[in-house]
Amino acid sequence: MRVFEKAPAKINLSLDVLGKRNDGYHEVRMVMTTIDLADRVECESLPEDRIAVHSSVPYVPEDDKNFAWQAAKLIKDKYSIHRGVEIMIKKQIPVAAGLAGGSSDAAATIRALNRLWKLGMTCEEMLEVARKIGSDVAFCIKGGTALATGRGEKIHELPPLPPCWVVLVKPGVSVSTAQIYKDWDHQPAVHPDVDAMIDAIMRRDFSAICRSLGNTLEAVTMKKVPEISRIKGHMRQIGAEGILMSGSGPTVFGLTRHESRMQRLLNGMKGYCSQVFAVRLYKPNDALSKYE
Ligand code: ATP
Repeated sequence: MRVFEKAPAKINLSLDVLGKRNDGYHEVRMVMTTIDLADRVECESLPEDRIAVHSSVPYVPEDDKNFAWQAAKLIKDKYSIHRGVEIMIKKQIPVAAGLAGGSSDAAATIRALNRLWKLGMTCEEMLEVARKIGSDVAFCIKGGTALATGRGEKIHELPPLPPCWVVLVKPGVSVSTAQIYKDWDHQPAVHPDVDAMIDAIMRRDFSAICRSLGNTLEAVTMKKVPEISRIKGHMRQIGAEGILMSGSGPTVFGLTRHESRMQRLLNGMKGYCSQVFAVRLYKPNDALSKYE
């Protein structure tokens, strides 16, 4: 038997770091939303007891460093499963880009194995496994729009955003999330107004959402990747209504409600950067699971 899951990326609309905790993690407050750019995760039963991972791109690990592998191992141990699984990941989400591609693959694997092995896991049980893998995996279990607190694993659901286009521009370099947080520790921080973003979402006020975009890590990553600042300037000139770097970067996204402006942004930025995508927000009623 085989099951398929969509593993959509996220963007951060607001990301604040409150400080470093005693356990070494950073305490965060961030508003995230799922976008319609997704990897495809396929899980197939294996007769022998092993976990095999295959990825469509060469620079993603296929061993126990892959978050999907870790998800499968945790589920096998928790439910004493002595069967094997082959996990095939078709990557569409740029890697190490601030879009949580690896985390979403892990969340999709949890949902897939719940179906493949008919485990009847509740959402809370899936979240429990997710939290053991990484800070963004819990959010990716359900997706949608949410405030994440703690080290990112405590999820408070928010209403969906008003519909808009998201134009993503990924500079040619990748950054390490761990390094960006380390650098953040040694720089004076600018804190975005996370509550203003929550308020704008509650009021479904698109202009206020664009005005409230903010990411405390942006200035840190920008020092390493000056191209971010140039991309932002270019997107502003073309007419994006809101512009921000996602997560620890370096992907920059622009929001617009107008299809014509999305087209202008897409065409304008394509001549400027090689990885450019225009996608919709993930619709709240779009099921993440697909049966075949
Ligand atoms: P975040 O926004 O959650 O910080 P990111 O988008 O910056 O994540 P990922 O694409 O998740 O970064 O990749 C980060 C690292 O995780 C990669 O360098 C890669 O080695 C490792 N990794 C493990 N599993 C995966 C996976 N399934 N897909 C991509 N990368 C993975």
